Amino acid sequence: MTLSRGVKVLVDIGRSQAVNFRNLVTGRPLTAPSLGSMTLDHDDVVLARTWLRDRSRWKERVVVDHYETDFANWNGSRFAFAFMGGRVALSACIHALGLQPEEEVILPGYTCIVVANAFHFAGVRTIYSDIELDTYGLDVNGVEEKITTRTRAILLQHLYGLVCRDYEAIIDLARRHDLWIIEDCAHSTGATYKGIKVGNFGDVAFYTSEQSKVFNTIQGGIAVTNNNNLAEKLKEYYLQAPVPDEDWIEKQLSNVIMSYYLYKHPKRWLFGDMIEILYGKKRVVSTTKEEENGIKPIHYGQKMPDPIAAIGLNQLGKIDRYNKYRRQAAKYWDEWCDLNGYKKPLIIKNSNPIYLRYPVLVEPEKKADTSWAREKLGVELGVWFTSQLHPVKCDIKACPNAERAVNQCINFPCLME
Ligand SMILES: *Cc1c(COP(=O)(O)O)cnc(C)c1O
Repeated sequence: MTLSRGVKVLVDIGRSQAVNFRNLVTGRPLTAPSLGSMTLDHDDVVLARTWLRDRSRWKERVVVDHYETDFANWNGSRFAFAFMGGRVALSACIHALGLQPEEEVILPGYTCIVVANAFHFAGVRTIYSDIELDTYGLDVNGVEEKITTRTRAILLQHLYGLVCRDYEAIIDLARRHDLWIIEDCAHSTGATYKGIKVGNFGDVAFYTSEQSKVFNTIQGGIAVTNNNNLAEKLKEYYLQAPVPDEDWIEKQLSNVIMSYYLYKHPKRWLFGDMIEILYGKKRVVSTTKEEENGIKPIHYGQKMPDPIAAIGLNQLGKIDRYNKYRRQAAKYWDEWCDLNGYKKPLIIKNSNPIYLRYPVLVEPEKKADTSWAREKLGVELGVWFTSQLHPVKCDIKACPNAERAVNQCINFPCLME
């Protein structure tokens, strides 16, 4: 640790423990509410420590095979391939579908910059269409007029753990126009429609295990398909994909430990500061500024190695339990909406959502400054999305609903401690 960093860390700790002391004497809670990394438990920390202590099996591909098979079985999909990000899994899907430069994909004008980037990295043109405000998915009305002779695919999304309102209608439309369907299931891993998990109705789908999502390997993602030919093409991308170097693996495992003590541990007001001293320098960010600006990171395109898959496998075993807790928490937010006169998200017929976050449209002031939720409800509010290509400020024309969601959609946490 350099001297200046050491001084800064000590100053920060002094400051945060002074706040703790004030809270203690004024009878306020010591533990601040968190939003991310809520599915990490002590067993994940033990696992991360075990893999950190012994590097002899880091280059094997035994656990990752197991992880892919188990995920495919759990998800009800025939094929699954694990990468180092949902965005990379999407790039694999783009490769599998054979999308070519100058061809077009239609996607919601309310998505993450990394989703748009995956297409741009392949030279594919992104054509945005508006969302609906019932489930924040692509609005089928409006998609047809965006189809041109260059259109090859439609990307639909299931946000916040919901199943999107126009799921079947969009798939029908795609079939009529001979277009591929890519499903963004980043928020809805485990949500079902007609008893089948989302991601199995289109042609290819991707999931993520980024720290703020349904399950957590810090960074990670999975691409699935039920189509033999597309599976062959996904495999082609997978086989040429490199694995992260040992430094990166060490960082990710350290982040499992750090995130648990910072965000999940009941005494994080104390342990968070201690863990910051030990691991703070190893913190990973999910998207760098350059990547936000459309620059492809050097390490983009990697597949998952065994030590990270081990965490994924452990997390996979908990998804159903945590999704059950999320559904229970959603009932509380349902009641809150009823009591306060806000509209509840739409649960489409035959769907079972998992409520990664509970989205509500509120007054713009309530999104601009979320401190009211901390003070009145004791929760940290999510502000997905802060722009139409989250988190990059941009102005996608003619998507008024997306614009409205950017200004008014807040999201309540559904895992709290
Ligand atoms: C997080 C997210 C992604 C990308 O997942 P990464 O694993 O971070 O690459 C894609 N789509 C949506 C809707 C997301 O929230």
